[in-house]
Amino acid sequence: MTKEFTDTKETIYDFYDLIEVECPDCGSHAIVRNVSDKSGMFSPRRFSCKKCGKQKEWNEQGLGSITDEDPYFGYKLWFLASSCGHTLYALNEKHLDFLRSYVEATQRKRPRKENESEIRNGTLASRFPAWMKSAKNREEVLRSIEKLKHKKGCANQSAHTTPASAPR
Ligand SMILES: [Zn+2]
Repeated sequence: MTKEFTDTKETIYDFYDLIEVECPDCGSHAIVRNVSDKSGMFSPRRFSCKKCGKQKEWNEQGLGSITDEDPYFGYKLWFLASSCGHTLYALNEKHLDFLRSYVEATQRKRPRKENESEIRNGTLASRFPAWMKSAKNREEVLRSIEKLKHKKGCANQSAHTTPASAPR
């Protein structure tokens, strides 16, 4: 079956308002979120962990780049996997879904021509690394994404349930 993906011009910054990370103190799922009413990458952020109650504010000017850490506090991202010899990461679940819709697509559409320069200047879809675009890696990358989705599910469950094995 043909699955289509259309570049709707998301950039990585569209996913900055809520970043899911691992709490550096207790290792639980925690979040870094925009606490101002403006959506902007330099708006104040707050880290909070429900599990241990750790909180931290961010009001600085400079941002780190994303590697396997969030750009505000440098905490480890929650959605991290190694796939096809590379690091697959997502800032949050929405970003993860975005990656999945791109990777599973067999047809990828670019927006109309008049938007070409804008597109080249950095939509997420225009910057996908080759290894994620490659059809031969599709299955493995999708498996990694599914595992990460499952990890999120486990974080939502109570701490008492035993995680089932990841779906294949
Ligand atoms: Zn914690």
